Amino acid sequence: MSWQTITLIVPDELKDAVVGEFSNDGIAGVWERAAGGAGCEMVLYFGPASRARLVDARIGRLFQRNGYPVPAVHVGTQRKEDWSAGWRKGFTSFPLGRRFRVVPSWEDPPDGDDRVPLRIDPGLAFGTGTHETTRLVIEEMEVLDDRGTVAGAVLDLGAGSAILSIAAVRLGWTGVIACDIDPDAVAVARANLRRNGCAVPVYVGSADALARAGAAVVMANLTAEAIRGLLPELRRVVQPGGTVLVSGILNAQADAVRGEVAGGGFEVRRERALGEWVVMAAERASAGGLST
Ligand code: SAH
Repeated sequence: MSWQTITLIVPDELKDAVVGEFSNDGIAGVWERAAGGAGCEMVLYFGPASRARLVDARIGRLFQRNGYPVPAVHVGTQRKEDWSAGWRKGFTSFPLGRRFRVVPSWEDPPDGDDRVPLRIDPGLAFGTGTHETTRLVIEEMEVLDDRGTVAGAVLDLGAGSAILSIAAVRLGWTGVIACDIDPDAVAVARANLRRNGCAVPVYVGSADALARAGAAVVMANLTAEAIRGLLPELRRVVQPGGTVLVSGILNAQADAVRGEVAGGGFEVRRERALGEWVVMAAERASAGGLST
């Protein structure tokens, strides 16, 4: 099994735009490292069925639109087995939110650290904690936690590396379960959960496997498109008064998503942006409140 890869040097100001441009096009992951000057080398990974050559042309147009010369783009393939090795080279521990530190499996937490370690080996899955969309969800989980006890089951919908499940367990939330439609991600999620001693069940699948009103909190760091498709299921599984954290939304998509979330039986309680990305904390209207 191989990924199609696109490698190019991206100025810092365009990084979010490049990822954003392709976030709905089967982009499986992004890897970057400083390239000297104000830019980084970026590798975009696409599944075998995606059309990487069209992406190449779109990158050129995106650079031109923003007043940059068309960059040299290298289209290649990478065997899935080599993916982890690539990640390991550039991945080291870093603080996340107010309470956590992401620590790769091959490193030890720094001495005397008072942050809670999340031991992550990203393997083939998304969710190292470096991406804004993940950071925004972690920060909103901390806000929810500050507000009081999370009473009821917690669903990590689209778990990827399971970073959000591990953070939920460390916040003391109980009844955490995780799912992902990608079996590779589920395998990585299970390994990371084991690594952190977290007894969180993970299944291949999505929200439709959950009972009605089965969740007090759902973390959904997906894409605007996926969130749109899942709204009826979210409305079914989130208990009245419960919260869904939706992330993976670009600034430009926020108005539309906010309207759809509100129309789907939720009240958007909080919204925050980081770079190009927006997270929303939406509360399921209680019975007797908005439409049920
Ligand atoms: N939760 C992690 C990873 C997010 S990446 C984080 O916050 O960093 C999004 C993940 O959602 C991917 O692993 C993808 O396979 C999965 N996914 C996409 N659509 C989904 C759906 N409809 N149901 C469940 N998982 C989905």
